[in-house]
This record gives sequence, C-alpha cells and structure tokens, in this order.
Amino acid sequence: MKLSSSSLEIMSVKGIPIRVHWSFLLIIGYVAYVNYKLSQDPSQVMWAVLFILALFFCVTLHELGHALAALRYGIRTKSITLYPIGGVAMLERMPEKPVQELVVALAGPAVNVLIAGLVLLGLALSPEVYYLEEIALAVNSHNFLLNLAFVNVFLALFNLLPAFPMDGGRVLRAVLASLIPRVQATRLAMWVGQAMAILFIFWGFKTNPFLIFIGLFIFFGAAQEFQMVQQSHILVNRRVADAMMTRFTLLNPQHTLQDVVDIILKGQEKEFVVVDDGGMPQSIITRDLLVKALAQHDRGTPLAACDCPKPVFFSPESDLNEAFRILQSEGLSIAPVMDNQKLVGVINTENILEALLLKPSAS
Ligand SMILES: [Zn+2]
Repeated sequence: MKLSSSSLEIMSVKGIPIRVHWSFLLIIGYVAYVNYKLSQDPSQVMWAVLFILALFFCVTLHELGHALAALRYGIRTKSITLYPIGGVAMLERMPEKPVQELVVALAGPAVNVLIAGLVLLGLALSPEVYYLEEIALAVNSHNFLLNLAFVNVFLALFNLLPAFPMDGGRVLRAVLASLIPRVQATRLAMWVGQAMAILFIFWGFKTNPFLIFIGLFIFFGAAQEFQMVQQSHILVNRRVADAMMTRFTLLNPQHTLQDVVDIILKGQEKEFVVVDDGGMPQSIITRDLLVKALAQHDRGTPLAACDCPKPVFFSPESDLNEAFRILQSEGLSIAPVMDNQKLVGVINTENILEALLLKPSAS
C-alpha cells in the first residue's frame, strides 16, 4: 500500500500488479541526456530510450518468471515494481523447501536465457549479417536486437552471482539449506552476499554508480532477510501466550489525541488497544498512527473520531509465527489476545522476540 503513492501501476498479470517506481524516470532521463551529449543526434537518443524500455520489459518478464514459478507452489506475489536498478517481485513469502527455492530463484534468469536464445535464433535465421563488434557501439536500428540478446545474457549471469538476496545467492542458500539448517545456511549466504556487495560498492566508485546502489541494496537486503529467517526460526512451534504481555495500558474511544501524546511521553508503551465500555477491543493506535492523526485533526479530537485501524484478534493458543506473519502483512504492530471473549493480553511485534527471551518457554 505504501508503494502505491510512489509508483504507478501500468498493468496486471494473473492478478499481480506491475508498477513502475517514479525514480525510473531518472534512468530514462539519464540515458537520454548521456546519449544526446555523446551524439547530438535525436534518433540516437530515441534508440537508446527504446532500448532501455525493451530492457526493462525483459526485467519484468524475469520477475514474472519468479512470480509464476512461486505460484506453482501456491505462493502469491503481491506486486512487481520496477526500479532504476532492476525489478523487485514481492512474494508473499519465500518457499522454505530448498528445491522450491531453487526453482523459483532460477526461473528469473532462465527467462533471460530464453529471450536471448530466441532473439539470437531469429537473427541467425535472418539474411542480415551481424558482427560481434557491433554490440559495443551505441544502440541503433541495426544492432538493437543483437544488443538486447547480449544484455539478456548479461542479466542472467549478473543475477546468478552468489550475492544473496539476488537470485544466485538464493541458489546458494537453497543448496546450503539442503545440507545444514536453514538459519545457518542463510547466515553463510548473507556473509557471501555482503562480501560481494562491498566489492560492488568499491567497483561502482571506479566505474558505474548504479553498482553502488545495487551493492547497498544487497548489503542491507541480506541482513534484513537473515533477520527474518532467524525470527521465524525462534517463533516456530510457539504460541501467542508465550510472547503475550499482560501488563499494558488500555485506552477508550473517549481518550483524545492529546491524552495519547501524554501517555506515550510518560511511559514506555508506544502502541495501544482501544476498548469500548464492555472491554471489547475496537481499534488500535500507535505512535506512527498518532502522528498521522495529529496532522489531520486537532489535539482535542477523541479517538472515536479518528480513522484508526480495526484490530486483528488472536487467542493465547494461536500459532505465534502465523500471528507474527499476519501482523506484518497487515502492517499492524499490536494485537489484542482474547480468551473466551475476554481481553487477556496483547502481542506487540516489536517486543515478541524480547518477550520470548524473558519468558520461560511454556511447552
Ligand atoms: Zn531475479
């Protein structure tokens, strides 16, 4: 949802929205500028821009390769977004079986190999003669397809570098995970990925600034994904009751935004459940939501008049990993825990891990 304000949906395939991030315009502008500066020739600029569009069409097909492979295992894709440094397919979750992860990871580069093969086959069958030196020249009507074929080969090879979380890194993780536990496999893949990211960044300073961005994306992406795998490992086979907090502040719909500000400033809590007079949870309010509400309403507004999200309920027996996943995908950071229509506690995504460490495991 957050992305939709910064990106434009251009089409949808099998219910997967395909979006273009606004910064994508920068690369079009950059390519047009560089080509105009070099050639001063409007037709050269046009071919270069057409080439970038064709290239990103291939990137989209690459991402669709991942998405459709994932769909075979029942994993849906929330969106595909095109950024200047490449495409990102937001899968609902990553397949945990190594073989499935391997197939999903390889499906993207396989699409580029297929495109390159088809284009080269078409060129080989055409009566025109091509020379390999031509691909080094600026893109024009004569060498357009030859360049497109080679750039697809490059895309396949680049994505297969073992730089987790890029495709090759996922292949590495899948192979490792078939030999050692998944958390350790991910840690190793993260280290390899981060080492490569550092090389990309150094190399980027010498050659192409896009490599710096790709390097940073890999470096932090690897760490973030390792953290997710580690978390879900800790959460597995746990119940909501294991991480539930039983001391918390309850708000009611008559509390004003100013009351919430005061409570946040006085205490440690940043997320609250709002209950009606009967003690039934009605909505939730968090510090971030409060900031948004204060931008729209004055401080004396009661919570009842604010547009606060409805809570998602869990029972103490709910599976903790599942609860955590639901809260993350709904973008909620707190949820009431109900036992026989009675509020018995809250779970808070920020504190789940801490709560588990502090509480002895109730087996
Ligand atoms: Zn890929």
